[in-house]
Amino acid sequence: MEIGQTVAERFLRYVKYDTQSAPDSKTYPSTEKQKELGRQIVEELKGLGLKDASIDEHGYVTATLPSNVQRSVPVVGFIAHMDTSPELTGKDVKAEVHENYAGEDIVLLGDRTQVLRCSENPELSKKIGNGIITSDGTTLLGADDKAGVAVIVDAVHYLVNSPEIQHGTIKVGFTPDEEVGRGVEYFDVRKFGALYAYTMDGETLGDVENETFSADSVRVTFRGISFHPGYAKGRLVNSIKIASTFVDKLPKDRISPETTEKTEGYVHPNVIEGGVESTSVRFIIRDFDDDELKRKEETLRALAEETVRSYPGSNFTFEVKESYRNMKRVLDKHPQVVEKAMQAVRMAGLQPRLERIRGGTDGASLCYKGLPTPNLASGQHNFHSKLEWVSIQDMKKASEIIVNLVKIWATSE
Ligand SMILES: [Zn+2]
Repeated sequence: MEIGQTVAERFLRYVKYDTQSAPDSKTYPSTEKQKELGRQIVEELKGLGLKDASIDEHGYVTATLPSNVQRSVPVVGFIAHMDTSPELTGKDVKAEVHENYAGEDIVLLGDRTQVLRCSENPELSKKIGNGIITSDGTTLLGADDKAGVAVIVDAVHYLVNSPEIQHGTIKVGFTPDEEVGRGVEYFDVRKFGALYAYTMDGETLGDVENETFSADSVRVTFRGISFHPGYAKGRLVNSIKIASTFVDKLPKDRISPETTEKTEGYVHPNVIEGGVESTSVRFIIRDFDDDELKRKEETLRALAEETVRSYPGSNFTFEVKESYRNMKRVLDKHPQVVEKAMQAVRMAGLQPRLERIRGGTDGASLCYKGLPTPNLASGQHNFHSKLEWVSIQDMKKASEIIVNLVKIWATSE
């Protein structure tokens, strides 16, 4: 049997399910419809003989492929998220398969203004001869991360049908609500039972992502003094003006998203709200280094102090909330997890590249819940866009990388 035989058909089936998550929902999962895809995946896994395949009340799908070797081998998990971005509709996705891609710009047929241009997509120009899957241009495709789901289920299919391949116990997990930052909120690491795991949610094949930002949110609230404006002379202190002065003091040429890249972090005011008496400025703070993250917060605090000094009678409060931490700190304690991923990529004939993510992943949260989880590529490109695309051959390769990892772990202590 060939690896990747079922990956395209599975992917095309999964994208038909509308699994858009919703950031402001009070329920978990944030949308009930995500469970419909979950139930479909459970049926498929059961059909492959994974008897314990199930979906729980939170929408987590888990299953076990039992070990076929006598010796004890670490239990390894593979994880992908089932939901799609709230930014763009994922309802009635009409996937288009462009067989034997010849290097032309791809005009999407449902909205001809949507054109996937070779010049804007350097990775696409490397995929001559591949089968490229896109949406029809009216919705996203959902390759983020149904490509990940498809490559994992396909790898299980391959392993089930290749009993000669020795492997330890393999766990698979499919999660809701990753796109709203709550993907592993109720994920029970102990129950999942894996010692190490990999999320299959990256872009370019061969990438092994072992680093995320460390992230906090900060709320600075300025308090002024409110009076009837007709009788306010010498008494009123307007917190809107204090907050404006404060925002104006932020560095203009550095530590902002619009002036940083690569290893640089930033402070980013993303909400301002208030009135005369009280005004809050909310920030997200990002850095790869935890100490540097703290220094950025101290810089903000110092600016707030400086600001209120020029508004007698005013004061401020400064609240910091932790969002997530760079997973590298955890992964560095288990170097074999990333090393084996690099090895699996090489076995697939690709050049592995260690990459850092200027954001977070579910893996970052899992690392701090005790499950070291770097991120590998599923082949998705242009995520959260109507121009999303994935190559069938890339998905096959991603399945192959999973199978290689399973083989490599089977020979380890
Ligand atoms: Zn994703």
